[in-house]
Amino acid sequence: MLNNIYKELGICDEVLRFGQAVEEELAKRFKGIDDNAEYNQLKVIKAMQKNKVSAQCFEGSTGYGYNDFGRDTLEAVYADTFKGEDALVRPQITCGTHALALALMSNLRPGDEVMSPVGKPYDTLEEVIGIRPSKGSLAEYGITYSQVDLKEDGSFDFDGIKAAINDKTKLVTIQRSKGYATRPTLSVDKIGELVSFIKSVKPDIICMVDNCYGEFTEDKEPLEVGADMIVGSLIKNPGGGLAPIGGYIVGKKECVENAAYRLTSPGLGKEVGASLGVIPSFYQGFFLAPTVTASALKGAIFASHIYEKLGFEVFPKAEETRHDIIQSVTFHNRDAMLAFCEGIQAAAPVDSYVTPEPWAMPGYDCDVVMAAGAFVQGSSIELSADGPVKEPYTVFFQGGLTYPHAKLGILMSLQKLYDRNLVNKDLIC
Ligand SMILES: *Cc1c(COP(=O)(O)O)cnc(C)c1O
Repeated sequence: MLNNIYKELGICDEVLRFGQAVEEELAKRFKGIDDNAEYNQLKVIKAMQKNKVSAQCFEGSTGYGYNDFGRDTLEAVYADTFKGEDALVRPQITCGTHALALALMSNLRPGDEVMSPVGKPYDTLEEVIGIRPSKGSLAEYGITYSQVDLKEDGSFDFDGIKAAINDKTKLVTIQRSKGYATRPTLSVDKIGELVSFIKSVKPDIICMVDNCYGEFTEDKEPLEVGADMIVGSLIKNPGGGLAPIGGYIVGKKECVENAAYRLTSPGLGKEVGASLGVIPSFYQGFFLAPTVTASALKGAIFASHIYEKLGFEVFPKAEETRHDIIQSVTFHNRDAMLAFCEGIQAAAPVDSYVTPEPWAMPGYDCDVVMAAGAFVQGSSIELSADGPVKEPYTVFFQGGLTYPHAKLGILMSLQKLYDRNLVNKDLIC
């Protein structure tokens, strides 16, 4: 029956058999991921119980949103789960870039310097910082930027970091996930090492972690190893696929307060900001997030094993431990990259009949192809694949609200490559 429905969906016997053989080797890996999800699930439940989440929390508010009990309780749940003093979790934070821009702009003042000790930050942050000029960038407000690249082998350049820290250095931005770069994603322990070093050089530097894609992939989060503030998007891991919008900032009380004063207004801060009707989805999404993240991790591991066996460069490598949900596959071939994305799209529950086309996107300096048939537009905790359409034609694949969907997506991507003779068929049959 299972084989039949795969066939009806367009997966041929050869591709299915190959995929099933790969999957059989992964039982132990998957068990480790399930164990981590179990732990994180309990962490979330514990935080919800501690804060006495009740039906009253789901009522929401309109207008100013004063005394929005559900919103305030949810922020306490986030703070407890991620081990911060306070949290800002709002639908008024429109996306991850906005959350990061907010955290930076509210905690920096003219004359300050922000430093990245892990190389170039995520593409969209270039305009936030002013690495690429933009209206309203930090640079326009007289906030300077310095950067220390990772060493050739992916390790921290401690000497370079020490040299880069000066009187003006107020905040350090550490990106946990590799994003669109080809460098290792940082484990929480690695982030801890980096934070300790930075604080040993200058104790009052604010260490901010761009936590996008990292939440719940490990049993702890960066605040537990000394970071001051973590920042992320609710249409990635912590929204569990249900949050239709939103971002979060969790950490030191003062950092969060600064952000709240900037998001709403000086003097108003966290007191305003109606949650409208979205709060139940924030709660339920956060509740599901550990197992949804686990599904995405399994999908990433399945994909890396498949494509590594077929001779493509995959990153992280199949056997590597995971610290985020992103898997990249490098094709060095435009057609293969687009075929992969077509497969992901064709496996989607929504918009499966459309073909993804490369397109210019705000915040990116070249065409980008994006495959996603998502319930929430642009959600990348849902199964999605994207990448800049230029050499080396690397596709970044992530998400999957359920593992069976992630598996179908990967098999379908392989099917498209197979049908167009873009893979070595001898390795499959
Ligand atoms: C997704 C992402 C962002 C930006 O988030 P958007 O919601 O796309 O604006 C920033 N940093 C990293 C590492 C990301 O993965």
